[in-house]
Amino acid sequence: MIHNHPADADIQQFVLDNTVCEKHITAHIDSCEQCMAKAENYKLLFSEIEKQPKPVFDFDVSALVLPQLTVTEQARTRNYFPAYILSCCFLGVIGIAGYFYKVELNNFFKKYFLHISSGLSKTVLYMLLSAALLILIFQSIEMIKKYQRKIDDLNFY
Ligand SMILES: [Zn+2]
Repeated sequence: MIHNHPADADIQQFVLDNTVCEKHITAHIDSCEQCMAKAENYKLLFSEIEKQPKPVFDFDVSALVLPQLTVTEQARTRNYFPAYILSCCFLGVIGIAGYFYKVELNNFFKKYFLHISSGLSKTVLYMLLSAALLILIFQSIEMIKKYQRKIDDLNFY
């Protein structure tokens, strides 16, 4: 019975639960010094593994994670600022350009728009134009905000 030692898996099975082992394997291990030594080694190994403490975090996980979540929230709100600054710059540039080129703008509107709305007074025309400009600006801001939100959704940090 010295030859054809059972496989290591069979010896491990014998150590863990010899009632499910095949009879000839049990008989072999019981009679074979080599396999018995192997079985003893496995028994020792398994008992040592069992003695090992269960892996647990020895630090407070939530205490570490929660501040980072708040930082993410802060970064999120901070991210909206460029959009607002951009909108304000856009508005400012239009305002300044309109102020410096008011004569050209006046001529431009006279040439291309006034003949269509000749029945309207200049004041009404300017009011309509500023209303249109305001709507355009608000729509641009809304668009930038929507874009920013989508970018934020993509960013998980
Ligand atoms: Zn053996």
